[in-house]
Amino acid sequence: MKGTLYIVATPIGNLEDITFRAIKILKEADIIAAEDTRHTLQLLNHFEISKPLISYYKQIEEEKSDTLLDKIEAGKNIALVSDAGTPGISDPGAVIIKKAIERNINIVPVPGACAAINALICSGMSTDEFCFLGFLPVNTTEKRKKLEENEYETKTLIFYEAPHKLIKTLETMLEVLGDRNIVLCKELTKIHENFERGKISDILKEIEEPKGEYVIIVQGADRSRQEKEAEERKNLTLEEHYLYYEKQGLEKKEIIKQIAKERGVSKNVIYQYFMK
Ligand code: SAM
Repeated sequence: MKGTLYIVATPIGNLEDITFRAIKILKEADIIAAEDTRHTLQLLNHFEISKPLISYYKQIEEEKSDTLLDKIEAGKNIALVSDAGTPGISDPGAVIIKKAIERNINIVPVPGACAAINALICSGMSTDEFCFLGFLPVNTTEKRKKLEENEYETKTLIFYEAPHKLIKTLETMLEVLGDRNIVLCKELTKIHENFERGKISDILKEIEEPKGEYVIIVQGADRSRQEKEAEERKNLTLEEHYLYYEKQGLEKKEIIKQIAKERGVSKNVIYQYFMK
């Protein structure tokens, strides 16, 4: 019988943030696949778990996933862990999970800590809808491009960032997204846990030498690209407004309806204007 692939979340700082079930699965698994075996060994030693470890990191995900899945097909149960938090979230995991699905292998999540979610819930920003963007590209042009793509995203934005890139990233956010409210969530679950709330410009003034791990929560745009463009069309003359929609291929009736809607007047008013 085939074994199972367990995706096991581990703490993001405080070692007490591991579930009873995670410990049980790690104790019962035949093999633990870990992003950094030395790092995971410390965790396992803490919980007195002794298991064969196989390294599974980003650069070897493709080839190593096949080897691990062969073992599962031969009946072994494998628990996949990353250095911290939930595997697959800005961490290795996606490749083996995709291949396991293709090979009809049972995948079981063992939930636990995730920095993004814990930063979001304590940020005070809207949790109704959010957009996780992980790490921004290091290259400045690509970083700007990624932010520009999300400039009009009205959902709360979540980013991961390394301390030595934090200031540059905040400066680029200020340029591209404007002076939004953000929450800088530092060292979650650790001794120096801290939430810095304010405008990007204020936080940039206060921050000295960033140290530790950070999640950046950014307030979503106050209006979508469509809303902004509709707002701008109000400055057009009615003729220009008409022409704009005519160029989009809309019929007269539909154009009048759109203009009336965007200007907050009745269709009849617009209709009468053009009749004159
Ligand atoms: N898989 C992990 C998770 O579930 O959160 C994320 C791994 S990613 C390689 C590491 C990044 O997550 C860090 O650079 C930081 O942005 C964020 N992070 C991880 N632990 C954190 C913590 N305790 N406090 C704040 N951010 C953390």
